Amino acid sequence: MKPWVVAIGCCVVAWVGSGFLSHAAELKIQHHDLVVELDPSRHTLIAQDTIQFVGLPEDDPIIHLRLNSDLEIEEILVGGGPLDFWEEALHVSKGKQGSSETHATRTVEIRLPSLSGNREARTLQVSYRGIINDPPRAAPGLRFVRPDKTMGHIGEEGVYLTSETSWYPEVHGSLATFHVTVTLPNHWRAVTHGQELSYVSQGDTSIAEWRIQTKTEALTLVANRFVKQHRQWQGIELATYLFPEDDHLAPQYLDAIARYLELYTEILGPYPFPKFAVVENFFPSGLGLPSFTLLGSRVIKRGYTQPYSLGHEVVHSWIGNSVLNRLETGNWVEGLTTYLANYYYEERFEGKEKAIAHRRRMMVEYSLYSQPEDDYAVVKFHHKENRLDNAIGYQKTAMIFHMLRRQIGDRAFFRGIRQLVADYTGRYAGWCQLQRAFEDTSGTDLSWFFSQWVERPGAPILAIQEAQVQSDEREGYWIRLRVSQTGKPYRVQVPVSIQLDQVQDYQAILDIRRKNQSMSVWVPSKPKRLMMDPEFEVFRRLTRSQISPMLNLWVTDERRAVSVPPDKSDQAIFQPALARIRSEQDDVVWVEGSSGIKNVQSVLAFGQPSQNAVTKEVLGWCGSRILVNAQGITIKDKTFFGEDVAVLISCANPKHPDHVGTAFFGLTPEAVKPVARLLFFYGWDSYLVYKNGKVVARGSFVPEAQELTVELVFHRPLEAA
Ligand SMILES: [Zn+2]
Repeated sequence: MKPWVVAIGCCVVAWVGSGFLSHAAELKIQHHDLVVELDPSRHTLIAQDTIQFVGLPEDDPIIHLRLNSDLEIEEILVGGGPLDFWEEALHVSKGKQGSSETHATRTVEIRLPSLSGNREARTLQVSYRGIINDPPRAAPGLRFVRPDKTMGHIGEEGVYLTSETSWYPEVHGSLATFHVTVTLPNHWRAVTHGQELSYVSQGDTSIAEWRIQTKTEALTLVANRFVKQHRQWQGIELATYLFPEDDHLAPQYLDAIARYLELYTEILGPYPFPKFAVVENFFPSGLGLPSFTLLGSRVIKRGYTQPYSLGHEVVHSWIGNSVLNRLETGNWVEGLTTYLANYYYEERFEGKEKAIAHRRRMMVEYSLYSQPEDDYAVVKFHHKENRLDNAIGYQKTAMIFHMLRRQIGDRAFFRGIRQLVADYTGRYAGWCQLQRAFEDTSGTDLSWFFSQWVERPGAPILAIQEAQVQSDEREGYWIRLRVSQTGKPYRVQVPVSIQLDQVQDYQAILDIRRKNQSMSVWVPSKPKRLMMDPEFEVFRRLTRSQISPMLNLWVTDERRAVSVPPDKSDQAIFQPALARIRSEQDDVVWVEGSSGIKNVQSVLAFGQPSQNAVTKEVLGWCGSRILVNAQGITIKDKTFFGEDVAVLISCANPKHPDHVGTAFFGLTPEAVKPVARLLFFYGWDSYLVYKNGKVVARGSFVPEAQELTVELVFHRPLEAA
């Protein structure tokens, strides 16, 4: 990994000359005219690519084309005549930037005949064929983090050809337009970037013709037995390509796309492509490609119940697919997309409380999954492989954009985003270009901000060391505060909310820059309580005891145990969840439920309190918040009863609040069955109540520790000495 240069230096370097913009003499492909025939039953591809290129040096007219090593070149023609070519030894090249995937590509060397002074665009025709057969395999780890793995596939279940497949001849670094004609068996239909010009299904075959006018680095093409539905929205085609059995879902997807485009064209400017399509995939995926999103069948079938995943892919149309990002220079694309799609949509349409909960969740996710010893700087984030990458590249980075917005104000922030899109459509932008855009619109130097948040790993840890109240000589009161930071201090502007005994709450902002800082805040009436950052505006690391009890505290505890009911017949119903825990193969301790908890650790207990003594102990930690008896389960004064009720409840160990106890059980075995398989999807709440597997109530208990809240003690001013 290349070391990252400091922000200002980096900005200068990027402008002066760098690998960002190609220089003129370099050979690049400008346009591909691809005629492709795909046979899913035999995994075959037969293709002819007519390539237009520029920049071939006269004195050395050699082209190197890269192609998947399973594809055989049959012929290369220039000006109608065949050409000799040499295939270099196969080499294994890296897959997607930064990924650990590898695949073999061949490099083909072509020496062109004398150019006789003709320096204009030239044309080359390459005919090739072969087999692409790499059926998708489930990726290790959690499904939400990574799609299934394949380097490209042509098969009965579907066709997926992408940048990693190298399915057409490429010259590295080219941004090209395309015209693609795809022949497939009858009822099959291909989808790619750009615009579908025609589709004819006749006899045994179907032919689709596509035009891609937005220059692209890598063309993805998928095909399946799709049914297409479409409508126009402000001159843009909105479309769905779904499997026949899911076609009834098309209208709700089309409505949703229109709603998102409505919002995001307002924020980001004109939509940059001729269409947006939701395309159903034959393996689990959530991919945002230029002008379409490829969503796994299971997600599609759920209907429009996961709005943010679609909104996220719509935002990628601008951020990532239009304004480009070289991942190795730091991926800011996912963080900004997450902020605008997943977070901002909620803030805008679902209100303040949801927005606060979302920000808290982002900090909790970071605090749980990024430990100080493996934390890394945002600038080093390339792409998501695991929960740690998700915590840094998505959650922390999204919060950085939130703080930037607070720092420079809504107007400068949203103008900065629009300016970035306007200036960098079809070009590469890195963190430095972002900094420059926001400095332009805000008129302030933001080097300290980007250096602190993007180049430095970690997060502030804030604490109130001292808080005292004194009455002012004339009017009101002074709160004398001492705030500390752990480690190298951050510069943060922290909102405080002060409850007063007579008038409304009083709000102030503390400008904190030092490791230990004393400050005074004046308030008009006698203050009772002070809360620092109660609405989670400043990104910071929360300690485990500052986080509401939840299953994910168990998941992330180094010392954790699983407790099952001693009676084997009571265990059977929990098997799907137990198998999942066993498959993780870590050092979780298994304890029988007859003995209770002996060690200091987090514990996950299965079975009713009557079946498992540990469940009983965990429920004891919850105190009066939970009551279980023959009639049902009472949580926070609301009782749930019925044979179909199951619960997942977490409470902190009162003696060791860094550790959590979680209990999972049902009033009957049948109630547990539909939840057990999906238990770990429910990691973020203190309690969940299910009826027939459906969540009917959920919520969070107050965390054990409230280090940023202080009850204020009144000190009479000292008498003059
Ligand atoms: Zn994304």
